[in-house]
Amino acid sequence: MSCRIVIIGAGPTGLGAAIRLTELEHANWALYEKYHSCGGLSGTQRDHQGFSWDFGGHVLFTQIDRVIKILASLGQDFFLTHQRKAFIELLNIHIPYPFQLHTDHLPAEAKKRCTAKWLDPAPVNHTDNNFKHWLLQTFGLEQCRLFFFPYNQKVWGCPLEKLSYDWIAQRISLPNQGHANRNWGPNHQFRYPGKDGMGAIFKALAEKKIQKGSIKFRRKIVAVDLQKKLIIDNEGRIDHYDNLISTIPLTDLIKSLRGNIPEKVSKAAGKLRWNSGLVTGLGFKGHPTSHDISWTYYPEAQFPFYRVTSISAYAPDLVPKNNPQKYCSFLCESTISSEQPQPSTQEVLEALYKTRLPLPQKDSRPISQTQISLPYSYPLPTSERNRHLKIIQDFLQSENIFSRGRFGSWLYEIGNMDHSLMQGLEIVDRIMLGEKETLWTS
Ligand SMILES: Cc1cc2nc3c(=O)[nH]c(=O)nc-3n(C[C@H](O)[C@H](O)[C@H](O)COP(=O)(O)OP(=O)(O)OC[C@H]3O[C@@H](n4cnc5c(N)ncnc54)[C@H](O)[C@@H]3O)c2cc1C
Repeated sequence: MSCRIVIIGAGPTGLGAAIRLTELEHANWALYEKYHSCGGLSGTQRDHQGFSWDFGGHVLFTQIDRVIKILASLGQDFFLTHQRKAFIELLNIHIPYPFQLHTDHLPAEAKKRCTAKWLDPAPVNHTDNNFKHWLLQTFGLEQCRLFFFPYNQKVWGCPLEKLSYDWIAQRISLPNQGHANRNWGPNHQFRYPGKDGMGAIFKALAEKKIQKGSIKFRRKIVAVDLQKKLIIDNEGRIDHYDNLISTIPLTDLIKSLRGNIPEKVSKAAGKLRWNSGLVTGLGFKGHPTSHDISWTYYPEAQFPFYRVTSISAYAPDLVPKNNPQKYCSFLCESTISSEQPQPSTQEVLEALYKTRLPLPQKDSRPISQTQISLPYSYPLPTSERNRHLKIIQDFLQSENIFSRGRFGSWLYEIGNMDHSLMQGLEIVDRIMLGEKETLWTS
C-alpha cells in the first residue's frame, strides 16, 4: 500500500503540497480545510456592494523559480503588473518608501538630524539579538524616533526589545546596500490578479493543478491521535495518515495532539508569540483625485492603522461594475494587542479622512464598510523563538508530522505566499523522494 498523506489547511502551503502530490501522480492523499474555500490568509471576500477585500494588503512578488513556473501556468493574462508607489505619511507629508532612502523629503530641520547618521553609518557591534538595539545602531536615534520605533511598534504590537533582528534580510533596506537604489526591495514591481482579488490565484491553482475531489472543505480538524495516526474533525469523522502535513498555526496543532506529548514540547509551544490583525475595508462612490498610490504607511499614533492600501488601484474588478472611475476602495490594517485596542469602523473612517490620501471628497460617506479579524496575523520573531521551534519540530518530525507555512513553521522571514507555496512543494519532495528542503531548515 502506498503511503497516505494528509494535509491540513488549503492556504498556499497546503495547496503547494497538493500540487506537488498531483504532479507526482500520488493518488493516496486528502486535504482538509475548515473554511468553504481555499487561499487561507491569502484569500479574498467580495461584499454585497461589489467591493472585494483581501485579508490584509497582499501583493505578489517572488524570486523562487519553482513558484514562478507554477504561477506562469495560470496564463499571461491572469496578472496585472504594477510599479510600487508606496509612501510614509509623516509630519503631514508623503515621503517615498523606503523612509531611510528618502529623508531628503523631510522638512529641513528633521532632514538635517536624520541624514547625518545615515550618510555615515558607524560600524555596528551587536552584542545581543535585539531588534530595538539593531534599529538604533543601524539608523540612529532621530530616524528611530521619527519612524522606525513608532512604525514597528504599531505593526508588531509588542516591545521591540523582545524581537530578534535575524529576519530582516529582504525586509529592511540597509545603509550599505546603496543609497542610489531608491526603488529598493523585492516588491518594487509586483503582480496582482486581474480578477477576483489575491484569492483568485489559489482558487485557480486548486482548479487547474490539483487532483479533483481531494480537497475536503468545511472540515475542521480538532484532534490528531499520535498513536493510531488518525486525524479527527469537528463532526467526529476520522482519516488515517502515514505522514501528516499541517499548515495550521503550530500552537493549535500542539493543542490538538492526543497521546504522549513531552512536557518540554507543550512548554515550548506556550512560549511562541504572535499578533492579531484587523482589516477595515472602506469603499466609496466617486473617483479619487489621484489613483496611483499603492499603499501608505502610518507611524503616527493619531492613525489607528499602520498601513492603508489603495486597493482599487490594483484591478478594476475590485470595485462595483468594474469601474474605478466611479468607485474607489481603501484597505486599512491595524495590529491588535493589549496596548493597541481594536478600532471601530467609525474611528478608522475618521482617521482616513485626516490622511493626505486622495479620497473622492473629504465629506463623502463610504457605501461599503467591512471589518475582517485575523486572529493570527504575524508570527513574532522573538529572540528565543528558534530554540522553542527546534524542540517542537524535532518532536513532530519523530511522529511523521511536518508543520510548514506562515504559522506552521512560525518563521516570519519565510512567511510570504511564495515561501509558503514553496514549503508545501518541498515537504512533499522530502516525504516522497527523500530530497532535502532548501527553504525551511530546522
Ligand atoms: C496582513 C498580511 C499581509 C500579507 N501580505 C503579503 C504580501 O503582500 N505578499 C505575500 O507574499 N504574502 C503576504 N502575506 C502572507 C500570506 O498571507 C501567507 O504567506 C500565506 O497565506 C500563508 O499560507 P499558509 O498556507 O501557510 O497559511 P494560511 O494562509 O494561514 O492557511 C492555513 C489554512 O488552514 C486552515 N485551517 C486552520 N485551522 C484549521 C483546522 N483546524 N482544520 C482545517 N483547516 C484549518 C485555514 O482556514 C487556512 O485556509 C500577508 C499576510 C498577512 C497576515
